[in-house]
Amino acid sequence: MTAHTVRHAIRQRVPRRRGTGPSRASSFEGHPLRSRLRDCRDEGLRPDMTLHPPAPVADELSAPFWEGVKAGKLLLQRCFQCRRLQFPPTAACTHCSGGEFSLERVSGRGTVFSFTETVSGARHPYFQAASPYLVGEVELDEQEGLILVSNFPGSTYADLRIGAPVEVEFQTITEESVIPQFRLV
Ligand SMILES: [Zn+2]
Repeated sequence: MTAHTVRHAIRQRVPRRRGTGPSRASSFEGHPLRSRLRDCRDEGLRPDMTLHPPAPVADELSAPFWEGVKAGKLLLQRCFQCRRLQFPPTAACTHCSGGEFSLERVSGRGTVFSFTETVSGARHPYFQAASPYLVGEVELDEQEGLILVSNFPGSTYADLRIGAPVEVEFQTITEESVIPQFRLV
């Protein structure tokens, strides 16, 4: 698979948002934050935009994963019924629909499954400043098809290739916010 076909495949999977769903602007009509949002828009900013990467927001299902990440561990769900690991965490197994899981620490080692380089069009100031930056999928060694999405800190587009070995590292954004990233080994 060439880099070009990987780029194409990734573009195909991103759903188009324009013209779908309710109008986001209309939901803020009359809301007290609306004037603040307008001020930020005039300044080219959103209130939550900083020069940090966006912090992950945990929900009930993903909280154990993010707590593990803060402790320097990758903790994934393993289905009691079919024994497969899965990510992201879900209420029902994506393979057999089983609903009981254990949490299992995985090695953090894997290989590059796909990658691309974003050179323009980033909307968040952090990613605008970081452009061009790499993003891709990592297949973990524990199981075929077990994929996490990552940037590749310390690498350039020319450094990466499909199948290259990588290892997780934990990037601290703030005291409360840590994200897993994969680095070439
Ligand atoms: Zn299962």
